Amino acid sequence: MSDEYSTEDLIGGGRIFSERTPPARLSVFGDPVAHSKSPAFHNAALRAAGLNMSYVRIHVPAEKAPAAFRALPRAGFLGTNVTIPHKAAALAAVDEADDYARRSGSVNTVLVEGERLLGFNTDGPGLVRAIHEEFSVDLRDLRVVLLGAGGGAGRAIAVQCAMESCERLVLVNRTLEKARALAAELAGSFRSDRLVGPVDRIQAIPFEESALRLQLAHADLVINATSIGMRRTDPSLIPPALLTPNLMVYDTVYASGRSRLLEEAASVGARCANGLSMLLHQGALSFEIWFNRPAPLEVMRQALLSSEP
Ligand code: NAP
Repeated sequence: MSDEYSTEDLIGGGRIFSERTPPARLSVFGDPVAHSKSPAFHNAALRAAGLNMSYVRIHVPAEKAPAAFRALPRAGFLGTNVTIPHKAAALAAVDEADDYARRSGSVNTVLVEGERLLGFNTDGPGLVRAIHEEFSVDLRDLRVVLLGAGGGAGRAIAVQCAMESCERLVLVNRTLEKARALAAELAGSFRSDRLVGPVDRIQAIPFEESALRLQLAHADLVINATSIGMRRTDPSLIPPALLTPNLMVYDTVYASGRSRLLEEAASVGARCANGLSMLLHQGALSFEIWFNRPAPLEVMRQALLSSEP
């Protein structure tokens, strides 16, 4: 049975979802959506938890997103995940959003409560869990260099770092103005002089070797939130000579295996991890929002790993 549906299937009242066995009550909205790994691990979680429902992909073009969100209650849905390019539209569509979703400007998890839509973003909290799991450290204790601070994922991660008040945050972006604007917005979370030293706790810098060299010398964790790294032909994000063994490098890209950045970091002895753990934990947090109980994390992890090509 196909697990990809159209927006019309949803707006038309959703009977097609109830006719499935088990009925579809959860989904991911995206455009494109065929690549999403979420159905693999959410359906495994639903089975393991004994919940008689399934999770499907719904292809939602941008112009139909508002109608698709509004159709969820009538179609009998408990909620949905939201992926590219609808996370900002989801924030606009929900009746209420939590503090982190509002600050990050995006929603990746919607909970249907009666006729109301409640919005959450589990990307940042998922990253916190992923960093703890991968490196046995807490994000709040780290000096972070964030590559790609101008994108949606970069913003969500920067806001999470600010809410954790991590030791230092360096926002790196190709379009420097975006990183500067974000640094100004988040500066209030970094006002205390928790770190003693000659450097500011939050800074915006361009994607340039000299600026990166200076900042990486004061960093513990490098996070890649750019869209670079999914293809073998992608360029190096950081000159390899700037990578050192004391760094932890987390690449939010979750294509199978290691991105070029991770290959280069591993070759100098840095600790590395790719974005599969963030994907897993953001999904587990969505499950917890929908069902108000712990997610079967190991079942989800195995399903995610076995869905890898
Ligand atoms: P996005 O909004 O399109 O942002 C792309 C970012 O990459 C921007 O900061 C952009 O800089 C930068 N960029 C693009 N091309 C670049 C280049 N050639 N050199 C330097 N920087 C470049 O994308 P997004 O939605 O934030 O997604 C970014 C990544 O996060 C994707 O790889 C996605 O897979 C990953 N992600 C992973 C998870 C997970 O659970 N693991 C969750 C969410 C997202 P400008 O501002 O200058 O354009």
